[in-house]
Amino acid sequence: MEVTRRQFLKISGAMAATLAVVELGFDDTQAKAASGSFKIAELTPTPTICPYCSVGCGILVYASQNDVIYTEGDPDHPINEGTLCSKGTTIRQLYTTDKRITTPLYRAPGSDKWEEVDWEFAYEKVVKNIKESRDRGMIHQEKGAVVNRLDNIAYLGGAALDNEECHLNHKLFRAGLGLSFIEHQARI
Ligand code: SF4
Repeated sequence: MEVTRRQFLKISGAMAATLAVVELGFDDTQAKAASGSFKIAELTPTPTICPYCSVGCGILVYASQNDVIYTEGDPDHPINEGTLCSKGTTIRQLYTTDKRITTPLYRAPGSDKWEEVDWEFAYEKVVKNIKESRDRGMIHQEKGAVVNRLDNIAYLGGAALDNEECHLNHKLFRAGLGLSFIEHQARI
């Protein structure tokens, strides 16, 4: 029978716990009964990628409908194999902190304040600015050759993007808009 890394860790953990209980002569009946009420017992983990740095560690998120209950390193992820640094370990606080920003913020030209705006406003503003910048900066010809190049917008990707998202973004920004300056934070 083939055992995945995740199954192996589960089996090892269960064996270690059982041995400890037997060695110390504990009656594990109560512990077994209590494990049924663990908060994450009924939850299915959702895999995600840590957004903090370019390592891009895999994380499992156990969430109920209204809350993120628990997070842990993904043992099946080839980058971190279940481990996390101190930042990744505390990632649940991204969701629980009262400092979390939940709406887009906009600072108008000349203003010294950020204002909360709705998503519709933010999308329209981004699209309008891209269109205006592209119309203003598109270089169609250079030294007699057609180049259709755009140098006044740059694109920066992040570690939370997977290969497919990077591929699509690259198509959009390189082939669709003509950007020259495309970079990725996860260039390690
Ligand atoms: S867990 Fe730590 S090392 Fe891994 S991606 Fe997050 S910040 Fe980087």
